[in-house]
Amino acid sequence: ERLIAPQAQRQEEVFDRAIRPTSLADYIGQPKVREQMEIFIHAARSRGEALDHTLIFGPPGLGKTTLANIIAREMEGELKSTSGPVLEKAGDLAALLTNLEAGDVLFIDEIHRLSPVIEEILYPAMEDYQLDIMIGEGPAARSIKLDLPPFTLVAATTRAGLLTSPLRDRFGIVQRLEFYSVADLTRIVTRSSSLLNVPMEPQGAEEIARRSRGTPRIANRLLRRVRDYAEVKADGVITGPVAAAALDMLDVDRIGLDGLDRRYLLTLMEKFGGGPAGVESLAAALAEDGGTLEDVVEPYLIQQGFVMRTARGRIATPQAWLQFGLTMPESLKQ
Ligand code: ADP
Repeated sequence: ERLIAPQAQRQEEVFDRAIRPTSLADYIGQPKVREQMEIFIHAARSRGEALDHTLIFGPPGLGKTTLANIIAREMEGELKSTSGPVLEKAGDLAALLTNLEAGDVLFIDEIHRLSPVIEEILYPAMEDYQLDIMIGEGPAARSIKLDLPPFTLVAATTRAGLLTSPLRDRFGIVQRLEFYSVADLTRIVTRSSSLLNVPMEPQGAEEIARRSRGTPRIANRLLRRVRDYAEVKADGVITGPVAAAALDMLDVDRIGLDGLDRRYLLTLMEKFGGGPAGVESLAAALAEDGGTLEDVVEPYLIQQGFVMRTARGRIATPQAWLQFGLTMPESLKQ
């Protein structure tokens, strides 16, 4: 697997570059985010100012990086990317910041993983476009201050809860991405297939969309797999039945749940009798991180009506029992 992974990753990157939307007009779904960003970008541009620093949060694959790229493009600036865990030394951040030009966007993915030292340097940079760092060590050490050009920090995180409040308070714009509807995912898959010249019928697109866990990245990934299947097993056209057969063969869940979603629900029902169960108990039973459950797994299960968050803990809904063909204990029925 390790041998083929880099190759597969490169292919995915090529594919991704071909279909990633580059303007707000092509950014499908997320109507509130789009409408607001249109206004903010327009206003900043007509004042000739940098856009306010923007924090984007939401589960993986919903379009945070894509939105950051679009912001840079719409502001006619360059995008410089990095991520929280990569920025280890003050000098790394200083190098990035001093290379920015007016109107550029600095994108920091996984901002919740920034070290406190780096975060301290970011504050004056965000607030006053000032870089304030120590150079050298011991008696020769001195602090220098540099003016930075007006730039926009766009930061992404799956874990909004882990941001310190001083950092969070420095973002003028905060956008939360939601899971996509089947209709929006159908539009995304349709757009991707036409950019890639893959013949597809509307029912084929919808079948893929329904099984994509509300997530564009998954939808596009499934499109690639279904395209392979259609080319080998059918005449290349992705029809409804071809998509369904391909996705069944790949063991893709009918309603888009992934392995961890299924383990979560089964654990909640079988080990905890349907709940209420605390998130930390569930995390321990699943050997997963509680934060991941809260920020990545539960939002989708709640949106789909399988789980309820109550003051006493998580509860599996009747729909969850039904979905897995399990009998709901009498005591849980109202
Ligand atoms: P994140 O940074 O949130 O993990 P990405 O921005 O990398 O997610 O998005 C994953 C993929 O999904 C992108 O390659 C892009 O092609 C597609 N995508 C994301 N959001 C949209 C959207 N609103 N419209 C169309 N395609 C999208």
